[in-house]
Amino acid sequence: MKKTKMICTLGPASSNYETIAKLLRAGMNVARLNMSHGDISHHQKTLDLVLKARKELNIPCAIMVDTCGPEIRIGEFEDGKVLLNKGDLFTFCTDHTIGTDKYVSCPYPELTNILKPKQKIYANNGLLEFTVRKVENGNIVCVVNIGGELSNHKSISIPHTRLPLPFISKKDEENIRFAVKNDVEYISASFVNTPENVVEMQQLISSLGGRQQIISKIESVEGIKNLDKIIEVSDGIMVARGDMGTEVPIEHIPAIQKMMIEKCIKNGKKVIVATEMLESMTHRRRPTRAETTDVAQAIYDKTGATMLSGETASGLFPVESATTMSKIALATEKQVDYDKEFEAECGKTPLDTIAHSACDTAKSVHAKAIVCWTDRGKTACAISKFRPQANIVALTHDEWTKNSLALCWGIIPLVVEQQQSLDDLIAYASKVVIEQKLAKKGDKIVITFGVPNSNSTPTNSINICVVQ
Ligand code: PEP
Repeated sequence: MKKTKMICTLGPASSNYETIAKLLRAGMNVARLNMSHGDISHHQKTLDLVLKARKELNIPCAIMVDTCGPEIRIGEFEDGKVLLNKGDLFTFCTDHTIGTDKYVSCPYPELTNILKPKQKIYANNGLLEFTVRKVENGNIVCVVNIGGELSNHKSISIPHTRLPLPFISKKDEENIRFAVKNDVEYISASFVNTPENVVEMQQLISSLGGRQQIISKIESVEGIKNLDKIIEVSDGIMVARGDMGTEVPIEHIPAIQKMMIEKCIKNGKKVIVATEMLESMTHRRRPTRAETTDVAQAIYDKTGATMLSGETASGLFPVESATTMSKIALATEKQVDYDKEFEAECGKTPLDTIAHSACDTAKSVHAKAIVCWTDRGKTACAISKFRPQANIVALTHDEWTKNSLALCWGIIPLVVEQQQSLDDLIAYASKVVIEQKLAKKGDKIVITFGVPNSNSTPTNSINICVVQ
């Protein structure tokens, strides 16, 4: 089983039971619903299919609702899309007109106050580039610098400009209500620029009675500048390379990605590398060598997860894309000597100390697995932070915790019944690793648990056990 987790975005190419089941078998750990596309009733149907498939196949899988964020999207074209050529004049109109190859609606009147001649506008993650020529009568007249296909509802970005939009729009509030109502495990928050953005979303989730973890998508210069503080208040970070690539010179993205992975691991936070990982597989059965190496590099850097977007949402080969990414993960992980790279430095909290000791012990005795009894998943995540060689088996009594742990690096989450005694607990751990084919009789495993034995006792003990 691979240690690096895989997020698959679901869309028209994959929102059916058969494909979702295939994606789960191919190693999907998190199903992402991108709320920038489709409506809530459509997402509800997809979400229900994921719930059904993960239950029937008994494969842990978290669900992630990805908000639209304060972004600007164009309206619709007569034929769904147009082809723009370099040198064409193209107008963004702030009314609701239906688009042609001369204009498209972009219903944000505030834009006419912000945009000035010579400013750049990007569309389609920067694949298309425009320069503003003039702004008049609610129209933003541009010249096309880099042409290409522009289709319905694509987002546009204006680099280095803070848009006069609330962080949580009415639409995002509706989407967050949807996430809370369905008790999904994660909300990925688009365009997080400040820690206050995260806190605002946390407060909304709490006020609605939700318990969703927030993954902050970093996709702006401001977000990168405030990264440390955003990491502190978030449950995890997504390196959202698509939009980031329109704000930051593209050649700086590899270093930023590496830095973000490192900081998240150090702080025990989840980290996801996203966008264009296997982009060419949207149209082709096989990835490019460069894409393969991109995925592998993120894994060598020990990212918690990698993500597929259009590849699984709208591509021709959603299942092949997921299978390919899993294969790259498995092959790359075999090349990493996690024990050798194990950090001698341990964390500051008692939980960090015990998690570090468990990993250190597993390394010393060449344990095949670290089995942790975990109530809400905190111990399992603390162990995952140190990226041990041994598989981490998280035993919890709670279904929601099991699925949320599906996103965490190296963790195999299982729901089990509370064991009566310490002896039962140790015997059960032995049984589980054999069932999961992680160890055989005579192998050593390390077990972490709380004494006295109850769900609410924090982890305070480590045991080395020979599998019977
Ligand atoms: C990105 O910009 O890289 C990203 C993941 O966000 P989205 O797919 O919502 O554009």
